Amino acid sequence: MKFCPQCNSIMLPTKTDEGNVTLKCRNCNYSIELEKESVEKYKITKEIKHTPRDKTTIIEDEDAVQTMPTVTVTCPKCEHNKAVYWQLQTRSADEGSTIFYRCAKCRHTWRSY
Ligand SMILES: [Zn+2]
Ligand SMILES: [Zn+2]
Repeated sequence: MKFCPQCNSIMLPTKTDEGNVTLKCRNCNYSIELEKESVEKYKITKEIKHTPRDKTTIIEDEDAVQTMPTVTVTCPKCEHNKAVYWQLQTRSADEGSTIFYRCAKCRHTWRSY
């Protein structure tokens, strides 16, 4: 969080047409163009925030979820009876694939063994 050197109000990052990020004061319109290094830092912080702890069990792409097949299965968390499912091929052929479910209501994700 940055504060305006002029009036101490919170400065908000805004994207310019060129793709640069400018911090702008909401109060007096004072603005600072971020240097590339700090832009990267902003980006990284955002990415870390959105990185799931377990990549295999959480889907980030909501569009992909929309197209997934729905099955009637009981959510272990909220007991809703509809969930989408998808398969993940495991490395070893002997183990076959693992099925993951995601509750349509509370978005709880679990795997089937
Ligand atoms: Zn200001
Ligand atoms: Zn649920």
